[in-house]
Amino acid sequence: MTQWTLDKIQKLDAEDIFAAKRDEFFLPEGLIYLDGNSLGALPRAVAKRLQEVTEKEWGGSLIAGWNVHSWIDLPSRVGDMLAGLIGADPGEVVLAESTSINLFKALTAALQAGPKRGTILTEEGNFPTDLYVLDAIARHSGGAVKIKRVAAAALEENLTDEVAILCLTHSNFKTSRKHNMAALTKAAKEVGALTVWDLSHSAGAMPVDLNGCGVDYAVGCGYKYLNSGPGGPGYIFVAKRHQDKLDPVLAGWMGHIRPFDFSGDYEPADGILRQLTGTPDVMGAAALEAALGVFDNVDMAALYRKAQALGDLFLDLVLESCPELELGCPRNADDRGSQVTLKHAHGYAIIQAVIAKGLVGDFRSPDVLRFGFAPLYNSYTDVWNAAAILAEVMDERVWETPDFQARKKVT
Ligand SMILES: *Cc1c(COP(=O)(O)O)cnc(C)c1O
Repeated sequence: MTQWTLDKIQKLDAEDIFAAKRDEFFLPEGLIYLDGNSLGALPRAVAKRLQEVTEKEWGGSLIAGWNVHSWIDLPSRVGDMLAGLIGADPGEVVLAESTSINLFKALTAALQAGPKRGTILTEEGNFPTDLYVLDAIARHSGGAVKIKRVAAAALEENLTDEVAILCLTHSNFKTSRKHNMAALTKAAKEVGALTVWDLSHSAGAMPVDLNGCGVDYAVGCGYKYLNSGPGGPGYIFVAKRHQDKLDPVLAGWMGHIRPFDFSGDYEPADGILRQLTGTPDVMGAAALEAALGVFDNVDMAALYRKAQALGDLFLDLVLESCPELELGCPRNADDRGSQVTLKHAHGYAIIQAVIAKGLVGDFRSPDVLRFGFAPLYNSYTDVWNAAAILAEVMDERVWETPDFQARKKVT
């Protein structure tokens, strides 16, 4: 029997050092939002900043905004802020495009910088876009590159001297399983391979120490735990030691050393700036800048401990009250990211049914129910109430209602 009571839960909220952060976000009344792993909630500072950027900066300054409001420096300025959250140095991170495109840039860069070998090693069950980008690189390589997908447990034994690049996502989007970045990066180095890490499910949710681990390249997205808004820009990290040797495959004018010379010949910018391609998304970058302000003075180790505690509490409650739901993530919190995963053949309908009762999680085909914990705005009471809603939907088989079976375009 679970030892949890509402009294104990409320005591945890009363003692929570992040409790006051919740007020920095807009959260609809009566909604329990456990989907910050997919789209982070809106920070009040972002709403305010976006209004200022549109009405005052764009509306008021028009084209002059590039200079007077320093829009042109946003990708590197916000990149430097983000660097502090992921264990990078200033000048190692820029905002650009989407995670998918940055992954392509990182992989094609690593293929140039790395040993002349043909294999890129990755995990089966990696995020689809990561697998698609990898496979497309192999298909277009004229046979020079081959992708090897193996189970997470078999990664180390497959790190042989045929591997040029180890490409992994830090915390898996379905199973939440977290890789040991330090150990795997070290093992890759020992065989002379470079590493490309995707931080989409870890940046903003847990401590990440790219330079402490000796990582070569990394990418990630801004709209999940970093709360920059739907479709906001992604980012790319290139370790200082690699930056000036690279000849970008996606050479664009914003990555030119003097874009406003309008020269017909490409000459790469110094350092991380050559990772830029086209005109930056000013709204998206401004949103991320404001969103990162919420992380000022946040101890990421403490934040991750709260995420783990929320996840553990949810599993304690749900695994006891909902025997039909199967565990789909590690039970040990140190092996997980910031979300927990459950499995059920009717997962889609169950998620629709809990959403109708005010609990937002999401579904990943074929049978995965995901609940993400964002410690800056999720409380222990949220988790208690979420578990009660899920139990009610399972007990009363609410999900069998035909309305909940119809698939929407986005799940
Ligand atoms: C969310 C996510 C992406 C998203 O890529 P976009 O190009 O921003 O759509 C990529 N990789 C992983 C691992 C993700 O979790």
